[in-house]
This record gives sequence, structure tokens and C-alpha cells, in this order.
Amino acid sequence: MTVGRPKKAFSARFHQIPIVNDNGIMLKEISIQIRCPLCKSEIVSTNGTRKTMKAREIIYQCKNPGCTPRTNTKRGKQFSVYTSYCFVRYTDDVIGELKDKIMHSSTTHTNIAIDYCLSPSSITNLLRKFEKYVKDVIGLDKLLFMKENEEALAIDETFIKIKGIDYYVIMATGYNSHKVLGLSVSSSRKEADLLKVLTEADHNVTSSLSVVSADAWGATQSMILNLGRPMTFIIHKHKKPYDKAVIWRIEYDNSNRIITQIGIKTDIFKKKGKREIRVTQEIIPLVQAPKQKRGRPKGSKNKTSPGATKVKKKKQKRGRKGIFEVFNIGTKYFARMDPYRNRIHLSPAVPPSVNKGLQDALNLFSHKHVQNNLSENKNSSIKTYITWNGPKTQESFDEHLHSGVIYDNNRDYINLEISHRFTSETICKQIYRSKMHHFL
Ligand SMILES: [Zn+2]
Repeated sequence: MTVGRPKKAFSARFHQIPIVNDNGIMLKEISIQIRCPLCKSEIVSTNGTRKTMKAREIIYQCKNPGCTPRTNTKRGKQFSVYTSYCFVRYTDDVIGELKDKIMHSSTTHTNIAIDYCLSPSSITNLLRKFEKYVKDVIGLDKLLFMKENEEALAIDETFIKIKGIDYYVIMATGYNSHKVLGLSVSSSRKEADLLKVLTEADHNVTSSLSVVSADAWGATQSMILNLGRPMTFIIHKHKKPYDKAVIWRIEYDNSNRIITQIGIKTDIFKKKGKREIRVTQEIIPLVQAPKQKRGRPKGSKNKTSPGATKVKKKKQKRGRKGIFEVFNIGTKYFARMDPYRNRIHLSPAVPPSVNKGLQDALNLFSHKHVQNNLSENKNSSIKTYITWNGPKTQESFDEHLHSGVIYDNNRDYINLEISHRFTSETICKQIYRSKMHHFL
């Protein structure tokens, strides 16, 4: 290479930038190769110095005869190390990385600020820019650009106080994609609020959602039952007893809803072996006598209405307390678990709906404890989005939440274009930290 040219003029040039710590002590120098920002050429030379705010800096000039502006003007492109090709490329990388960290909010802003030698307010400022971009350019109405292939989701809830008022954040996350498929911030968590989230999730998947895990909240149970379609519903309490969970397999025939409740230990799918389960089955006619008031219907003394035969008149408190009743009254069976082969063996006496319910749960929790949250390390996927220090209104929180989720869900399709000025010092420290500058 470079045969016949004076070697000295065209050997690669490096610029040393000292990295100093907070006390002004030099830690190390980073070495940036000087290449033309226009043509990326390594054929450069120095062309004097220029005085800047802080110090005097070296000016480089492109000496590549084929460089774009050369064809127009006679002079080669002039630039400093900070506007040179490699440095600019690094700046882009640093901003991209920072953008992911801030939007994903798995790290606190204070920690990001320390990492990047930035002030916490500049991190918040950047977050606002990112959120505004998502809101203005992408829009906040759709959680996903592309539908996901999902059958199972986890419904998580938490609440946040805004100006003294509690708001519920309800989030439905897919087990397969780990993406948020339904999301809502509302002042209540009634059946309708939960249904809204599930309906949104339904629209974001290619097939039909048939497995849901959730906490033992009565409104969630009613919502699942009233969907009117076969479902496996895995209920895991966030309170004692932690070692127990209940699976409801909900099926329908022409005129009945059949609810098979399966009481399990949460470690049932951890290892291979024989496990005890408890099962109850309840058949409820779909066409019930028009909502009966408590007590005896008007005009009937001892007769029961024909539609309501034998249905153990809904035990009033079926909600929260009733959930674990299956452990007391259920029929005892044994299931042979093989998480390695993803198989369950049950005796022929066990209703087939038990197998279906257990199998759906095994698909999600093979080798794991049964729990509602998707990640074992994190308390809940919801928590990663809750860190928030913006204006305290429901609208701004809602926007923050949606833009974060939309960014995460679609990050492969989103190319955030945000301009932000960083000091060259910040970038240099990141280049130093990443220890990648040798490869530039
Ligand atoms: Zn050039």
C-alpha cells in the first residue's frame, strides 16, 4: 500500500486525549485515529492550531485527492479530533446506548448520570426529549407495530400515588415475547378496567390468548370467567401462602361453564417426580335465572327456580378466601411431572381438563416456581417503568409509561433521532470506559 509515496505523510495518525478524574488527575489517555469526516480517509495531515474556549486544538486536513469537497474546492476538509470520523461515530454510539438506558429505565437516572458523568437533570432532560419523540413521531395509541405470537400473558398490577390519589397501573405482558400487550392507568381496578387491558392484548396477538396468570384479585377472576371462552387461569397470591397456587381450567359445553380448580404447590414443575394435586369441578349453567337477588325470589316460598337446580348457590365469598378452598375440599390425585420432557402423567381417573390446565402451566413454568411475574430477578415487569420523576399528573405519567413501553416493544423498528449536545469530555470518558477505542 501507498507505494511510491513518502511514508511519513500517510501513516495512520492518532490523537491522544487525556482523561482526568474529578480531582484533575490524569487517569489515562485515549487514542483516536484521525480520519476525514467526509471520506473516512486516513490520509490526513496537521494544519496548524485553533484557539477554542478551553485550549488550543490541532486542526487536521484531509489529503485524500478523491475526497468529495476536493473536487469542488482546492482545499482539503479541515477538522478537529472532535469532529473527525471516528470520534463522531463514537459519539453516536454513546448517545444510542444512553438512549436505551434512559428509555428502558432499568437503572435509576442517578446511576446513569454517574456512569456518564452527566448531571441528573440532563438525564431527565434527555428522557423528556425521547418521550416527546415517541409521542410526536410514533404516537402513543398503539403498543405494538407488529402483532406477537402469544398464547399466555401475565397480568400485573401496581398502584402509584399522584397528587394524593391512587392510580392503578394494569399491565399485561406476553410470556413468549416479554412485551407489554395491554396497558392502562386508571383510578379503579374493576372488572371493566381489567377487561380493557385484556381486550387490548387480544388485539396485539396473532392468535387467541388462552392462558392468563394473575394475582388473586376477585375482579380479574370475574373478568376471565365472563370472557366466555376456554381459558387456563393461573392464580398466584402475592400474600401467604406463597408455596401454593391454583389453576382454573375453564371450559364450556352447550349450556354450562365447567370450572376445574387444581390446587398445586408452586414448586410442582421444578423437578421430575410424583406430586400431589387437589381437584374440584364445578358446573355452572350459562343461562342462569336472571340475576337473582340474595334471598328467596319474590313469590316463591320453598321452591327453587328451575334454572338454578343444584348449583351450589354461589357461595357469596367465592372471591379472595375461596381461592385456596380447593386444598381443603378437593379430591386428591397424583401427577407425575417430567419437566425435562415437558410431560405430565395422570391416572385415567383424573378429568382431562386437569391435564390441560397443568400442561398449560408447565409450558410457562418448566423448571421454575409458579409465580405471576415473568422474571425471577425482578419483582415485576411493571416496576421497571414506574421510576419516574416528571410532572405529577396522570396524563404525564400515562405518557411516560406508554412511551417507555412503546419504545421497548418496538425498539427494533424505532430509530430515535434526537440531537443533544454532549461535552467532548463526556464522550471521551465513555470511550475510555468502553475500552473500545483501540479498535476504531
Ligand atoms: Zn476527506
